[in-house]
Amino acid sequence: KAKEEGKRTASLFADWMEQEYHQRLSQEAELHRAITNGEIILAYQPIVDINTGSVVACEALARWQHPVRGLLMPSEFIATAERTDLMERLGELVLRIACRDAAGWEHRVQVNVNLSPRQLRRGQFLQLLAEALEESGLPASRLGIEVTENVLLDGDERTLQQLRDIRACGAKLILDDFGSGYSSLSYLQDIDVDGIKIDKGFTRKLNAPKVRAICRMVARLAMDLNIYVVAEGVEEPSQLEWLKLNGIPFAQGYLLGSPATRQPSRQAEYLA
Ligand code: C2E
Ligand code: MG
Ligand code: MG
Ligand code: MG
Repeated sequence: KAKEEGKRTASLFADWMEQEYHQRLSQEAELHRAITNGEIILAYQPIVDINTGSVVACEALARWQHPVRGLLMPSEFIATAERTDLMERLGELVLRIACRDAAGWEHRVQVNVNLSPRQLRRGQFLQLLAEALEESGLPASRLGIEVTENVLLDGDERTLQQLRDIRACGAKLILDDFGSGYSSLSYLQDIDVDGIKIDKGFTRKLNAPKVRAICRMVARLAMDLNIYVVAEGVEEPSQLEWLKLNGIPFAQGYLLGSPATRQPSRQAEYLA
């Protein structure tokens, strides 16, 4: 009897596994189609100089215009891409579109593109970067590459070298989601960056004295290293006020502008 039960459970489990498997396969196939069929589009979110209100850069954020499910956010497809080699294709597409778009903007601000660790794996990112700049005509100085700390953390020498090369070719290197991982600060000895972005997890809790202390420390660190610092996820006027008073000169967040598919404006409306 128990044996029968066991068999039944095992076969239910096998069915479930098979369903899971097929679901994964179809997700991958769909994403593959999306990448080749132009269903991936970019939204741009302004990064603003808090003291003047002017837009100094825009971050390119991937969106999937799905024919049936509507507009999908990265949380619904980046993980699938990361799990497979689709991230390389997606990342390449994003970089090319972002450079092309930014080259055509009236307001000639920097465009920031997020780089996944996977895109550095084969060691050929710099070639792609050069191509994207060349074909778009965008000057390297107007491109920023955002990487998270874990890229540096589990980065081998080849990864670090590619990151150095990004700066060597004239693009900016920016540390994204700063302080959100489990990394130490020691990697800052090995690599030069142009800017850091304080994770929105800190910005959200700017009422807490401890979080304030951390943000002041980051502002000080940035000043001493002579790099710029951006606070992500600014939603409240009070947050903006605190950042301004505490030496954090740049901000990004819904208060100053949501990701949008149109060209960036010169000024953040809120600070105009
Ligand atoms: P991220 O690079 O840290 O980008 C910032 C995220 O914060 C974006 O989410 C943005 O829409 C959101 N955000 C902006 N302002 C606010 C705010 O005031 N409050 C809150 N709560 N959120 C705000 P999004 O577009 O959903 O992207 C999520 C993540 O997906 C990005 O985080 C980035 O890590 C990844 N991602 C997006 N596009 C790409 C891409 O083209 N390539 C790679 N490798 N990753 C991407
Ligand atoms: Mg980013
Ligand atoms: Mg971020
Ligand atoms: Mg973040």
